[in-house]
Amino acid sequence: MGKPTGFKEFQRQAVPYRNPVERANDYLEIYTHAPEEHLKTQGARCMDCGVPFCQSDTGCPIDNLIPEWNDLVYNGRWEVALERLHKTNNFPEFTGRACPAPCEGACVLGIIEPAVTIKNIENAIIDRGWDEGWVVPRPPAEENLTGKSVAIVGSGPAGLSAAQQLRRAGHEVTVYERADRIGGLCMYGIPNMKLDKDTVERRVQQLRDEGVKFLTGKHVGKKEEFEPGHMTQIMQERGVKVEFVDPEKLVDEFDAVLMATGAAKPFDPTASCPGRDLDGVYYAMDFLTRNTKSLLDSDLKDGHALSAKDKHVIVIGGGDTGADCIGTSLRHGAKSIVNFELMAQPPAERADNNPWPQWPRIYRLDYSHEEMKSRTGDDPRCYEVLTKEFVGVDGKLTGVKTVQLDWTRPTPNGPPWTEIEGSEKVWPADLVFLATGFVGPELEVGEMLGLETQEPRRGWKTFRAEHGEFATNVEGVFAAGDCRRGQSLVVWAINEGRGAARAIDQYLMGSTCLSAPGLNL
Ligand code: FAD
Repeated sequence: MGKPTGFKEFQRQAVPYRNPVERANDYLEIYTHAPEEHLKTQGARCMDCGVPFCQSDTGCPIDNLIPEWNDLVYNGRWEVALERLHKTNNFPEFTGRACPAPCEGACVLGIIEPAVTIKNIENAIIDRGWDEGWVVPRPPAEENLTGKSVAIVGSGPAGLSAAQQLRRAGHEVTVYERADRIGGLCMYGIPNMKLDKDTVERRVQQLRDEGVKFLTGKHVGKKEEFEPGHMTQIMQERGVKVEFVDPEKLVDEFDAVLMATGAAKPFDPTASCPGRDLDGVYYAMDFLTRNTKSLLDSDLKDGHALSAKDKHVIVIGGGDTGADCIGTSLRHGAKSIVNFELMAQPPAERADNNPWPQWPRIYRLDYSHEEMKSRTGDDPRCYEVLTKEFVGVDGKLTGVKTVQLDWTRPTPNGPPWTEIEGSEKVWPADLVFLATGFVGPELEVGEMLGLETQEPRRGWKTFRAEHGEFATNVEGVFAAGDCRRGQSLVVWAINEGRGAARAIDQYLMGSTCLSAPGLNL
């Protein structure tokens, strides 16, 4: 360990985001870069604590070797730090930017002092790696090394991490994606200010150079009816030619197939609310996908984004999706933005049995809340609010009727709250974005293949496969990422993609040298 007393000498200093008022005027990334000396002293705060909870699966789902690279950064050995980082993580620039950093929530130093700035250090290592030209394609030693081929359906972080691992193991890998750009929610979900799309494309190019084949505009399966905001429909509307591919053909033509289709099917708790059909009520992904496509195609000049300019916007649902709708509406120049959250505000104090500081899983102060507070002085978040009705005139949304909840008094034989009498309110609204979560993957493609489903959480339906094995009930077909696990995080998608790659390699070859979370070699 380079600096045993570092945690006593240096205070935590997170690398600040850009000024919130300025950054809310553009779609550039919100992050700033810190000088090397700063990162060095922050790395020195790592205690090498014997039981590094940060790299265990409570901390890091992909077992990142955090104490090792903290120490390497402290000692100025950046290229080795990058090599250690890539050992467990195919895309540190995705997690370094977008991950909520459960590792910092699990940092042992966090028990007595603010945690080590692990996420900043991860990001700095990978950014430097790209700047210095240390990130290069690593194709297999020869073409057609194993003679085996794998089709991957879906190009999010689960599909991409599996593709890279399998390609490097020597298989022929083809990725089928219905959108016109590769990256899944890292491309058409998480907005540019949180994860720049050039950053995603740079990584996709590395995979291309390693020999992964990408086919865009290929919807595997069939779809008779599209819910509003469906990716394939957005693509078709925008002139992208989308071809429907029979999944049976993939099973016949490839030695293995990996389903990595995400969990894009939205959950709509307002479905039975009066006025749900009014013009102005949209799924969050309809708004975010159209915005990113228009931004990338034309710098928002083509008029295909749903504009929130001068509109009263209500975002229903907290979490990352809700925060991204707030950030995007703010950049459009919305007149007002309010965010409803059903749950109570998480307590500021930690529970007695938890030695770590409270790490609010949901509803932490996110970048867009900070931007909104800086610009208007208001926090957009309103807790314990239930939507009762959408109000409108001539088919057009004008407001949302809500009631305030009391979670301390469950309704007998009813919901775990009571509606507070007299708390009804009508909020002005021109646009509502439903950011209320997802129930799982679209099942049509699974039905065509006869894939069984599972219910990882009540109301969710995903493709059935065990974590660690990732094999479905159909021979040679595997499932990983949000389509198996349910709506989750980028870091868990990488966990599953790496795990599935190992399982597929084992299936194809009878043995495997690929490492995977929990089994890192
Ligand atoms: P996805 O990323 O969803 O990729 C699935 C891909 O499969 C898509 O490209 C889709 O078009 C394609 N596909 C689906 N069906 C078919 C088909 N039949 N044929 C062909 N292609 C198909 N996580 C974080 O860690 N941090 C964040 O800040 C964060 N922010 C988020 C913000 C938003 C708005 C959303 C929606 C999610 C966010 N997440 C965040 C969650 C994270 O993005 C996902 O957990 C992760 O991307 C899941 O990866 P995946 O590869 O399983 O699926």
